[in-house]
Amino acid sequence: MSATQDDDELDQRATDKLRWNGWGYEDTEFAISQSGDVYLTGQRYSSAGELPSFRGWVETDLGIDLRVVAPSGPFPSHLPEPTKNEPWVKEAEGNYGKISFDPAERLQHSHGHTAQEIFRLRYGWKPEYRIVDAVVYPREHGDVEKLVALCVKHNVVVIPYGGGTSVTYGLSPPDGERRMIISMDMSLMNKVKWVNKKNMTACIEAGLRGILLAEKLEEYGVTMGHEPDSAEFSTFGGWIATRASGMKKNRYGNIEDLLVNAKLVTPIGVIHKEAPVPRVSCGPDINQIILGSEGTLGVITEGIVKIRPLPEHRIFGAIVFPRFEDGVKFMREVAYHRAQPASLRLVDNEQFRFSQALKPKSTAYFQSIADLLKKKYITQWHGFDVNQMAAATLVFEGTKEEVSSQQKIVYAIAKRYNGVKADAKNGKRGYELTFMIAYLRDFAFQVGMISESFETSVPWSNTYALCQRVKERVRAASRLLKVPGEPFTSCRVTQAYDVGSCVYFYIALQFQGLDDPVHVFSEIEHAARDEIFKAGGSISHHHGVGKHRISFVKQAIGETGISTLQTLKNGIDPKNIFANGNLIDPTSK
Ligand SMILES: Cc1cc2nc3c(=O)[nH]c(=O)nc-3n(C[C@H](O)[C@H](O)[C@H](O)COP(=O)(O)OP(=O)(O)OC[C@H]3O[C@@H](n4cnc5c(N)ncnc54)[C@H](O)[C@@H]3O)c2cc1C
Repeated sequence: MSATQDDDELDQRATDKLRWNGWGYEDTEFAISQSGDVYLTGQRYSSAGELPSFRGWVETDLGIDLRVVAPSGPFPSHLPEPTKNEPWVKEAEGNYGKISFDPAERLQHSHGHTAQEIFRLRYGWKPEYRIVDAVVYPREHGDVEKLVALCVKHNVVVIPYGGGTSVTYGLSPPDGERRMIISMDMSLMNKVKWVNKKNMTACIEAGLRGILLAEKLEEYGVTMGHEPDSAEFSTFGGWIATRASGMKKNRYGNIEDLLVNAKLVTPIGVIHKEAPVPRVSCGPDINQIILGSEGTLGVITEGIVKIRPLPEHRIFGAIVFPRFEDGVKFMREVAYHRAQPASLRLVDNEQFRFSQALKPKSTAYFQSIADLLKKKYITQWHGFDVNQMAAATLVFEGTKEEVSSQQKIVYAIAKRYNGVKADAKNGKRGYELTFMIAYLRDFAFQVGMISESFETSVPWSNTYALCQRVKERVRAASRLLKVPGEPFTSCRVTQAYDVGSCVYFYIALQFQGLDDPVHVFSEIEHAARDEIFKAGGSISHHHGVGKHRISFVKQAIGETGISTLQTLKNGIDPKNIFANGNLIDPTSK
C-alpha cells in the first residue's frame, strides 16, 4: 500500500496515512475499551463502534484472555543505506517521474501482507534485512519504457509495485541481491483512459486502485464487476499480475475472463496485442503470459477490459444450513445448474460463530428482540444446533426479472439441503466484514495470536473432505510443534465452478512462549498446503505463488512446466532485471 506526495493528482483515500506495521489506514483499528470490550475506531466502515459479543467469542472459542500482551515494537531505527548505481541515478533522476530514497518509503515498498512479513515488522526487524534501494513513480507508459531500458543498460533490478497487498512475499527483495533494486510504484498511473460503450470496453492504467476504479466507471454507468476483498488497496495491474479473482466472478468473470488486452513493458520490448477484439486465433494467447506473471517478466502499464452496465438491482441474501456438509452439497448443485448468483459464499460453523461475534451493538431495543426471535426460530423451530450450523451469503445482481428468477432457483435448491432463508442483513454484513479481516489480523497480533488466510481450488468430489483434512492437519501440526492451546481453524467455500470450488481457510494460533513464532507458523502453513495437495487441491486459486509457495510449483506443474517458464523468462529477461524471485526457484534446474 503506498501513499505519495502528489496529493493533487490522487483521490484522498490514496494519500490518507497508512499504517507502517500492518494493514490499512492509521485512523482505523480494533481496540479494547475501558470496559474490556472490543471496538472499531474511526468512521470509515459501517462496523465502526462497539462489538459487544466479540470478547465472549475470544474467551470461549479461542480460549485466551482478551488483553494486549504483544504491542508492536517501534519503527525500525536502523535501515540499510541504499545501494546506488550512480550512472542509473544520474540518468533517471528528474527525467522519468519521481524517485525517492526515503527510508520509510523504501521499507513500505519491501513487503506485502503475509503474517510473517507483518510479524517481522512488528516484533523482529533486523538491520541486515534487505529492502529496496529506491522507489520510482512513473507517470505514463513512456516513463516505464524508458526506466526499464535504463535498468537493462545499468543492470538495475526492478520490482513492480501495485497496491502492496501481496500475500505471497511477492514484493520482498530476494536476500543476497547485490545490485541496486528499485520498486516501481504504479500509483500515479491511475486513470481510466477511455470507455467505449458501443463495444463495452474500457482502457485502464495499471496503478488504479480497485475501489476508485469502480467509482470512476460508475460515472459512465458501467462496471467491470471485479471485486477482490483487497479492492480498497489492490490495483488493476496487480490483479493481472497475480491472476486475481473477485467475489462476483459468477456474473462478471475472473480477471482472465475480463481482460481483452494488456501492455507489458519487458527488457526486450513491449508485449501487447494490436486490436481489442473479442477473440483471436493466433497460437497460444499472449495475454496468458502476462496474466499471473507476478512481476517476473515486466511491468504491466495498462489494459483493456470488458465492462457491463451497472446492475438495475442488487439484493443480498443469507441461508443457514444444519451442517457445513449440507451447504457444500447445495453449492455443488447450484453450480451444476449454473444458477450461481453474482456472489455465493458458504462459511463453516467456526466462521459462522466468528461472524456472529462481530455483530455491532444493536442500539434499537426492538432490533435486539427481533434478533433473538430469529435465532429462536432457527434453533428451536428448525432444530439447528448453533455449534454445527453453516451459513451462505449471497449477492444477486441484474434486472428485476433476472434477480427474481435467480432467487427462486437458488432458494429451491437450498430447501433440498434443509437450508433456511435467513435475514438478508446477515448477507450484507458478511460482505462488509471482508474489509475488516486484515485489521482483525493486526488486532490478533496484539492479543498474542498470529493468523493468516490461504486458499485453494479443488474438484467437487474432494471439497468437503479437503476442508476437514486441512483443519485437522493444522491442529495436528500445532500439537506436534507444541503451540499453546488449540489453534483456530475455519474455512469457507467462496466460489462455485462447474468442476469444483475455491476454498479459503483462516488459521490463528497463540505465539506467546514460542521460541521462533515465524518458523513455527510457516511450518504449520506448509503442512496445510501439503495436506491440500494430498486431498486433491491446487497450489493456489487466486493468491498466486510469489516466493511463499515456490516449493510446491514442481508438484503443481512438473519439471517440464518449470523449464518452460524458465525458458520464457530467460528469453524475455536475459539479465534477470525483474529479479523478484517469484514463481521459479532460482536454484531449480
Ligand atoms: C486482506 C486481503 C484480501 C485479499 N483478497 C483477495 C481477493 O479477494 N482476491 C484476490 O485475487 N486476491 C486477494 N488478495 C491478494 C492480493 O490483494 C492480490 O494478489 C492482488 O491482486 C494484488 O494486487 P496489488 O495491486 O496489491 O499488487 P502488489 O501486492 O503490489 O503486487 C503483487 C505482485 O504483482 C506484481 N505487480 C503489481 N503490479 C504490477 C504491474 N503493474 N506490473 C507487473 N507486475 C505487477 C508485484 O511485483 C508482485 O509480485 C487479498 C489480500 C489481502 C491482504
